[in-house]
Formats: sequence, structure tokens, C-alpha cells
Amino acid sequence: MAQTEKTVEEKMRELYSLQEIDSQIDEIEILKGELPMEVSDLEDEIAGLDTRINRLSATVKELQQEISRHEANIAESEQLILRYEDQMNNVKNNREYEALMKETEMQRLEIQLSDKKAGGAARELEAKQGTLSATQERRDDKVKLLEVKQEELKSIIAKTEKTEKKLRRQSEKQRKTIEDRLLRGYDKIRKSYRNGLAVVTVERNACGGCFNAIPPQQQLEISQRKRIMICEHCNRILVDHNINEEVPAE
Ligand SMILES: [Zn+2]
Repeated sequence: MAQTEKTVEEKMRELYSLQEIDSQIDEIEILKGELPMEVSDLEDEIAGLDTRINRLSATVKELQQEISRHEANIAESEQLILRYEDQMNNVKNNREYEALMKETEMQRLEIQLSDKKAGGAARELEAKQGTLSATQERRDDKVKLLEVKQEELKSIIAKTEKTEKKLRRQSEKQRKTIEDRLLRGYDKIRKSYRNGLAVVTVERNACGGCFNAIPPQQQLEISQRKRIMICEHCNRILVDHNINEEVPAE
């Protein structure tokens, strides 16, 4: 079963192709990875605002009830004063008159007190209503944003599901073309970097993974594609950026 040994160049191309496929899968993961978090953060924030709105609404209602209570007290006192004034017109003696005067005076003081309390409550009510409507506005904005993000996430999932499956199949297929030893190295390097890059190109005389400069002699060797070259700073596999093209003639 004679199988022609692959050239280093072919191996490098295969590894680089695998990297390109896997990087596309990583991109999908990143896209999905951030949106669900944003959505759940917004949901938490809205729940917090809802609690605040409920509390503020309850306070507003209490203050409105308090103001009504003071107003009712004032009305009651005014009624009493009218009655006392009526009675004063028909008093039998001075003592009775004095007593009614005193009662009237007391009701006037009651009215003043209720008026003051009602005024205080009204000022507090105005402030709370201001905070309440600002909070409601903020909540409405967050709900709108949440709807946008949810739509975005839904469409990403709908759009990427097929692509992701296809890419994963491609990745599996591509892996089968690569020898185990290289694959193990690739997986190990890929796992050790958050950006998942194990095979990188040389860009502007530097490693495309860690951006450290690559000496000219090493660059020459990379472009000759005779040996698999590793970046001495980050251990990533280096390929020249024209890897999919033929080596330019001397
Ligand atoms: Zn490097």
C-alpha cells in the first residue's frame, strides 16, 4: 500500500486550512457567546427596575391617600366651624359662646396643621412621581434594547446553526487528512490561546500570533516550506501569507 508521502508544504497547507475552518467556528462562538450574556444582563436590569417601579408606585399611592386624608380632615373641620358659627348665633350665655369660640379656634388650628402636612406630602409626591416616570422611561428604553438584542441573537442562531454544522463537518474531514502528531500539536497550541490560533501567517515580518519580529533567515525558511517552523516566542506554527499559492520562482 504505497502512499506517496506528503510534502511539508502540503502538510502546512492542510494545517492552515484546518485553522481557517476552526477560526470561523470560533467567530460564531464569540458572536453567540456575548449576546446571551447581554440579553440576560438586560433581563436582570429590567427586573431590578420593575422592583423599583413597584416600590415607587406604592409610595406614590400612599402619599396620594395621605393627601386625601388631610383634605378630608380639613373639610370636616370646616363643616364643624360652620356648625359652631351657626350655634353661636343661638347661644344662651357667654360661657357657651366662649366654649364654641374655643372649639372653632381649635378647628382652625387643625386645618392649619392638616394644610401643612398635606403640603409636605404633595411636595414629596411630586418628587416621587418625577423619579417614577424617569425610572419608567429607563425601563422602556431597556425593554426596547432587549427586544433588539433578542432578535439579534435569534437571527444569529438561525443563521449560524447551519453554517456551524457545516464548518464542524469540514473541520472533522480536514482533521482526517492531517497526521496525528501534528494534530496533537495543533490542538495543544490552539487550546493554550484564547483566540484559538495555532497556525498563523507571517505579517509585516512578524508572527501573526504574538506580533514578535521574525528574523530574516527564519522568514526565508518559512517561505521555502521545507520544514515546519514554530514561532520561538509563542510556539505557534508559522506559515507564509501566500501559503496557498505556489512558491514564487527565484
Ligand atoms: Zn509568535
